Formats: sequence, C-alpha cells, structure tokens
Amino acid sequence: MDLIVQKFGGTSLSDEQSRRHVLRHIIREREAGNGLVVVVSAMGRSGEPYATDSLLNLVLRNGNALPARERDLLLSCGELISASVLCSLLNAEGIPSVALTGGQAGIMTDDRFGSARIADIKTERVHKHLSEGLVVVVTGFQGMTSEGEITTLGRGGSDTSATALGAALSAKVVDIYTDVDGILTADPRWVSNARPLPAVSYEEICNMAQNGAKVIHPRAVEIAMKAGIPVRVRSTFSDGEGTLVTNAEALRKQGIWFDKTVTGLAHVHQVTQIGVINNNGPADVQLRVFRAMASHGISVDFINVMPSGVHYTVSDHDTPNAIGLLEGLGFKPQIRRACAKVAVIGGGMNGEPGVMAVIVEALTNSGIPILQSADSNTTIWVLISEEDLAKALQALHTAFGLHLA
Ligand code: ADP
Ligand code: ASP
Ligand code: MG
Repeated sequence: MDLIVQKFGGTSLSDEQSRRHVLRHIIREREAGNGLVVVVSAMGRSGEPYATDSLLNLVLRNGNALPARERDLLLSCGELISASVLCSLLNAEGIPSVALTGGQAGIMTDDRFGSARIADIKTERVHKHLSEGLVVVVTGFQGMTSEGEITTLGRGGSDTSATALGAALSAKVVDIYTDVDGILTADPRWVSNARPLPAVSYEEICNMAQNGAKVIHPRAVEIAMKAGIPVRVRSTFSDGEGTLVTNAEALRKQGIWFDKTVTGLAHVHQVTQIGVINNNGPADVQLRVFRAMASHGISVDFINVMPSGVHYTVSDHDTPNAIGLLEGLGFKPQIRRACAKVAVIGGGMNGEPGVMAVIVEALTNSGIPILQSADSNTTIWVLISEEDLAKALQALHTAFGLHLA
C-alpha cells in the first residue's frame, strides 16, 4: 500500500463548505487504496476565530507577558481544533480516523519555543494506526521536546510537519493543498494573470519561498529535497494536479523539464533601505554598523559594502531600533522606509546575457526607479519603492512572458 501525506492549509479548513472539499480529496485517495496521513493547519486566516493570528491577538495586549513556552501552548490549539473537527467529519462519513498532536505523532523537536527544529520523528504510533486502517490526522506546526513540552515550528510550519512526516514515512508523495492552483509565476494577489507552473525543481521553489513566495515554507522544501520525496502544491477547491516539485533530473526524465531563463517572481515588502556613508570618518564604518545590528538581533539583508560606507535593508519593524543604534554611534543614516525587494528567479538564468537589461528596461519604461540591485546564478534582486510594487511585478511578469503558457 502506498502512503500519501496530505496537508491542508488554513483557508482549506475555514468553513463547512471548504471542509467538504477536504473530505473529497481524502476519500478519493483512500478509495484509490492509499494509506493517508493528513496534516492540518489552524482554521482560516487572521480575524477568523480559531486562526493562529486570532490566538496570538488574545495575548497581544499583554505585550511580552506570556513566556515562550506558554505562547506555544496557546498557538498549538488552532491545529488541535482543526484535527478534532476533521476527525469528526471523517468518522461521520464512516471513515475511521484518529487525531494526533505533533508529539503523539512522534514529531520530536529541540526546545526553541516558537521556532523549534525537528530533531527526530518516531513513526511507530503512526504506522500502528495506518496498519489498523485509520486515516491519521496530525496537527501541523507543532512537535514535542524530549521533556514532553509542546513546541511550535515557526509561522507557516505545517508545511514542514507534512514533508518531515513524508520523509520519515517514505511517502509516495506529499500533497500540499491550498487556496491557489499550485505554484504560480508570481503571487496572484499581486499579479492577476500569474500562471500555475506544471512543475518546478526543489531548488527553484526553495529560492522562490526564501524570497517571499509564501505558498510553501522553504524549510519544508529543504526536507523533501534531502529525502527525495516529490511534493505537489495543489488547490483544495479543484481537481487540478497542481505543481509537481521534484529534482531537476526527475523532471527531465518525465519530459517536463523546461529550461526557462526566468521561472517566476517573488517579493518581500515593508523593508527599509539604510545608507551609512562616512567619507571622512573612521575606516571601520562597515564593521561598526554590522556589529551594532548583530548585537541587537536586527537581521540585515541586501548588503552593499563600498569603500565609503554601506547600504543595506532591515524590516520596517526594526527601523526605529536600527536608527537609534546608528545615531548612538555618531552616524547620520540615510533612511528610506516602505521599500520592496523583488526577486526575478530562474534556474536557466546562469550565463544568459540580457536578463538585467530586460529588468531595467521594464522598470524604466514604467517610470520605476531601481534603488539597489544584486544578483546570483539563479536570481536578480531589485529594491524599489513599495508604492511601485504592483506596477513593477506586472511589468516584469509581462517583460519575461510569464503570462504565456
Ligand atoms: P495555506 O494556508 O494553505 O498554507 P498560505 O497563505 O500559506 O496558504 O499560502 C498560499 C498563498 O501563497 C496564496 O494564497 C498566494 O497568495 C500566496 N503566494 C505567494 N506567492 C505565490 C506563488 N508564487 N504561487 C502561488 N501562491 C503564492
Ligand atoms: N497555523 C500556523 C500559521 O498560521 C501554521 C501554518 O499555517 O502552517 O503560521
Ligand atoms: Mg502556508
């Protein structure tokens, strides 16, 4: 019997109608003779009663009064509710099932509350229930320490629970069900004619996810890649096959490899560009700036180091803190808030001339200034003003023909 891990995201579970779609996918795979482990997220998105953000809001007013351990106890409840409700639906349909917490499913983590790492998965209990013919419903986003403490894996962590279980159980495939038709050429919330990709390599989606494409958590992809388990990202609300994520070689063998220069776009917004230029000052400006950021836990990105100083970005959230530190060191930082970092991503970009020229032309023709840029073998990044983001994404999407099949 083949084993499939199915993961259903928050929007797939938010109301009765959505949960009926979930049921449909479970029944279809079960009737095809597959063993099923079903990983669930908390129901709905921010504002809906049992969503992770809604649970967080319950204690937001108390600032940091809730210790990390207890915060994880609270956050783990959303997935518990989903798993129990799904279990009741399955049993009502005559499909025997069992709901397990992450810990009960054997997901063992370290004790970094809020961003725990999976250390091991003890699969005995899941195997036992599968052999009893049960659908095993597991709460995503959480695990347990060796001391029996409940931990959470970081936001978006249910994807990681799913691929980690898939790897530990040698699943045939991990299906990530969500509210879009697969991995698209850009976030459809920003680019209306973004198109689903039939297949992408682990590296490409990892790159997209690390650059802000929220559709799957990058850690989940890394785990699947290491284990060589194929992943499909697909819609709960249709019967489409979605996007197959596997290694480039497997894709080539299936004849579905396409060596596109640019595969897709991703972005992060709400970032601040900081410039510290010190033509006459001490030569160690770079060192002093980055030491100050590091010692106060401010994550820096998009770093350009020049003889005269540095340019880099921080999240808008960290901006007041960063300014305070720099001024404390005697610098007069140049600050540009509300920027966005757009990543143009493609496995076939390496050595291909003219990609930057297309980017510059598309943005210039749209009247969008480029504030900073950087590149690697597979990605070109540009920093722009956030108010230009929608226009920039659409212009780049069209310039690279990503809307065309
Ligand atoms: P879930 O609750 O199912 O985990 P998420 O909100 O975490 O769903 O991820 C799905 C969302 O990811 C989509 O609604 C979409 O707006 C966003 N997204 C961002 N980039 C992409 C992309 N390249 N392809 C598909 N979806 C994307
Ligand atoms: N419910 C968790 C979150 O909102 C985990 C997840 O959805 O993957 O981050
Ligand atoms: Mg998600």
